[in-house]
Amino acid sequence: MNISVIGAGQMGNGIAHVFAQSGHSVTLIDIAQASLDKALVTIGKNLDRQVAKGTLTEAQKAETLKNISTNTDMAAGVKSAELVVEAATENIDLKLKIFKELDTHAPAGCILGTNTSSISITRIAAATKRPTHVIGMHFMNPVPIMKLVEVIRGYNTTDAVTKTVVDLSTAIGKVPVTVNDYAGFVANRILMPMINEAIETLFQGVGGVAEIDTVMKLGMAHPMGPLQLADFIGLDTCLAIMRVLHDGFGNPKYAPCPLLVQMVTAGKLGVKTGEGFYAYTPGSKDLVVAPAFS
Ligand code: NAD
Repeated sequence: MNISVIGAGQMGNGIAHVFAQSGHSVTLIDIAQASLDKALVTIGKNLDRQVAKGTLTEAQKAETLKNISTNTDMAAGVKSAELVVEAATENIDLKLKIFKELDTHAPAGCILGTNTSSISITRIAAATKRPTHVIGMHFMNPVPIMKLVEVIRGYNTTDAVTKTVVDLSTAIGKVPVTVNDYAGFVANRILMPMINEAIETLFQGVGGVAEIDTVMKLGMAHPMGPLQLADFIGLDTCLAIMRVLHDGFGNPKYAPCPLLVQMVTAGKLGVKTGEGFYAYTPGSKDLVVAPAFS
């Protein structure tokens, strides 16, 4: 299948990787050439790790890389797509603009998927003239490792389009779960208020960063504490999701914690900027609490 992935950030590179590894022809598209270059390096490193573990051969690695091409021109990059998966920044205006353009340039019949974490599929679909062919295909981070694909049906998404996406997800080794289209869907409706509450707990001084994460890891058997997970997801993405929940339900319980808002304003976005609740040094796996919280 010809698949175009829009956005070559942490999710886009993983989505391109898993499709290409299953033999699909992938065009990875980003406005920034630097993001495309970085994505190819990341995919190469992740494939090397699979080869080192013995789960992939050198030949399969080479084949996977051969299946990926890149483009900074969206119109050219989607012109023969059968499926597009959009994984650009979590911003409603940006996604509406991208989907209008996709609708113009992608062939009729091409399914337009979005990896959005929380934004209404129905609203994104309404920016196109093919709402029956718009669907949520929500991969989890890191995409090559996490099994789940949350498949979200918009109001107009057809059974046939849903079946195509479910079957494709299964064929690439993922486990699809189909849900309906309300803010945050299932995954982030439940996860993000927990992360926001962890930040609120820190904000009120109930516990420090290490204490909060340790309670959740050892007490609830979570593999990663909520503050570390927030850093991993990206605090900008966490804030964007809380705002979608807050707007979508009009319930004050979803108000983003002021500390989260302040950290995003200060550019402390977590792993991707080198600092969030923890400070990250390239090449080091040590978990060090950021100076602001130590
Ligand atoms: P990111 O910031 O790592 O990457 C976003 C990429 O989009 C950047 O490379 C940027 O240059 C590119 N971009 C921006 N505008 C564009 C445009 N007009 N055309 C093409 N590319 C454009 O973000 P991310 O963490 O990869 O998140 C991407 C999407 O995936 C968001 O919708 C997010 O909610 C969703 N998501 C994120 C996670 C996570 O854990 N981070 C998990 C699941 C879903």
